[in-house]
Amino acid sequence: MDQFYSIAIDGPSGAGKSTIAKAAAKELGFVYLDTGAIYRTVAWHITMMGIGPKDTDHVPMLLDDANIKIDFQPDGQHMILNGKDITQEIRTPEIASVASQAAAQPSVREFLLDMQRDLAKTHNIIMDGRDIGTVVLPNASVKIYLTATPEARAMRRYQEYLEKGQKASYEEVLADQKKRDYDDSHRKIAPLKQAKDAVLVDTTEMDLQESINYCVALIREKLGL
Ligand code: C5P
Repeated sequence: MDQFYSIAIDGPSGAGKSTIAKAAAKELGFVYLDTGAIYRTVAWHITMMGIGPKDTDHVPMLLDDANIKIDFQPDGQHMILNGKDITQEIRTPEIASVASQAAAQPSVREFLLDMQRDLAKTHNIIMDGRDIGTVVLPNASVKIYLTATPEARAMRRYQEYLEKGQKASYEEVLADQKKRDYDDSHRKIAPLKQAKDAVLVDTTEMDLQESINYCVALIREKLGL
C-alpha cells in the first residue's frame, strides 16, 4: 500500500524536468528530488579522484569513499559530498558528460537506488531523472515523460548557461545533448525510455509557465487533489 504519493518525471536533458518538478512540488507541498544531481555528485567524486567514468575496476571502489548527503534547503536541494557542499560545482557540461558515462555502470546505479527509494518511503515526493518511472519507482502514483525537440531543449540549456555566466556555444550544447540522449537511451541498464503507464508531455510549443500549469493539473487530476 502506498502511504505517500510519488510522482515520477522522466525525460531527456533540457526538457524542463527540474524546473517543472520544482515548481510543481512547491505548489503541491511535496519534496522535490533532482536525481541527476546525485549522479553528477558521483561524477564529481570520481573526477576529483582522477578516475575515468568508464573505469569499471576503480569506480566501484571509489563509491565506498563517497559519503553523499542531500540537504533540502529553502533555496533548493544541496548536494554534500564528504562534508563539502558541491551544489554549484556540479552544474557544468563536463560533469554532465561524466555523469552520463558513469550512470551506465551498474555499480553506480545500484549504489544510488536505495537512496532514492528510501526518500519516497518517507515523503510525498516528485523525482525527476531518466529511470524513475521504469526502475526506481515502478509503482509511482503518477508518471510523466517530459520531452521537447532536441533544438528547443538545447536552446533552453544554452540560455541557462549564459544566465549563469558560463561560456557555451549553442552548437556545442546541442552536440553534447545529442550524445547524452543517445548514450542515456541506449545503455544496457536502466535506459531512458517512456514507462508504459507514463503520460507523454511535449513542451516544445509551451512556455515554462504553461508547462508547469499543465503538469500540475495532470498530477492533481490523477491524484484527485
Ligand atoms: O538530469 P541531469 O542532466 O542532471 O543528469 C545527468 C546525467 O545523469 C544524465 O545524462 C544521465 O546519464 C544520468 N542520470 C541517470 N538517471 C537518473 C538521473 C540522471 O542516468 N535518474
